[in-house]
Amino acid sequence: MSYPIPFNKPYLHGRELVYISSSVASGKISGDGVFTHKCHDFIKNRYNFNKVLLTTSCTDALEMAAILLNIQPGDEVIAPSYTFVSTVNAFVLRGARIIFADSYPDHPNIDPKQIAELITPRTRAIVVVHYAGVACDMDSIMLLAEKYDIPVVEDAAQAIDAFYKSRPLGSIGCLSTFSFHETKNIISGEGGLLVINDQQYAARAEIIREKGTNRSSFFRGEVDKYGWVDIGSSFLPSDIIAAYLYAQLEQLEEIQKRRLEIWHRYFQALTPVADKYGFKLPFIPDYATNNAHMFYLDCVSLHQRSQLIQHLDLAGIKAVFHYQSLHCSPYFQELHDGRLLPNADHFTDSVVRFPMYFDLSNDEVDFICEQVVICLSQNS
Ligand SMILES: *Cc1c(COP(=O)(O)O)cnc(C)c1O
Repeated sequence: MSYPIPFNKPYLHGRELVYISSSVASGKISGDGVFTHKCHDFIKNRYNFNKVLLTTSCTDALEMAAILLNIQPGDEVIAPSYTFVSTVNAFVLRGARIIFADSYPDHPNIDPKQIAELITPRTRAIVVVHYAGVACDMDSIMLLAEKYDIPVVEDAAQAIDAFYKSRPLGSIGCLSTFSFHETKNIISGEGGLLVINDQQYAARAEIIREKGTNRSSFFRGEVDKYGWVDIGSSFLPSDIIAAYLYAQLEQLEEIQKRRLEIWHRYFQALTPVADKYGFKLPFIPDYATNNAHMFYLDCVSLHQRSQLIQHLDLAGIKAVFHYQSLHCSPYFQELHDGRLLPNADHFTDSVVRFPMYFDLSNDEVDFICEQVVICLSQNS
């Protein structure tokens, strides 16, 4: 057992360092090199995505999505309040007004009934987040989106290898974004991916990613010189990042298998005491799969969560809380329209996440669960 037990630990699963060396040896380590193409092909084949582009982060992929959807000052974008800043900041950068929606009472995902009430003639996008890699109710969301002709962006940062009714997450909205940040299932330190499901955005996505130039079509020989044709930025990662990522993707099945074992070990150990101490285990609806991105408890109170975090900390275990509702954030609270979002606020106070990474051992999981039970029994 390692001590202390961190919340997350980046890990080499296979050929990461070999591929990084080979990328350097290839003589090209800037973007769109050999390993970027290998990653693109792997992800496209595995999930049947039509067009994908590696990006420097999921945040950048979201910024590209906001540009692609032509979000203008004053446009309204509906998104959950219980999420990471980047989900909405990307749209705020284009001048959008964020209309925050609440979560379900029993799951942090956005509640489609909430979305229906928030749509106005100014709504230009709906951004959904698959919390902990668990699918949102995409049929209800897409039905609304089609009825009002509003594009849906999936922030699938946590949702690699997760499915909604057998469809891979990231394949349903017109644009989707993934993260390979070191805290996600498949990592490259920093890194992300934009998935383009609606092909009307494909050509422009390449341009935006290449500083607003048509350099990608130039390299394919489609134009005889390249120049400035649109707005954009430098959203493509170095091939060194892609080399690391490709080694991880090759090990995806093994990584997922182990994460699921860890997740179920937590789940089995803590299920018998959940009712007694009043906390809830992660809920996974029938239409969703579990990609074991995160193991969390929904505590009965902020007090219970604080006691848990403190007790585990003293035992050498790093457990952490998660998002703070964005409608109450220092940046946004003055901009919010004042609607109460009690479920988002509930998860702000109640969610505690436990260590989750590939080489977390069974003994370590057992030790963490033991300490959780000791803390709860002492404080109940
Ligand atoms: C991690 C995460 C992001 C940001 O990903 P980066 O690759 O770090 O930019 C965005 N949204 C959600 C829901 C996330 O979990």
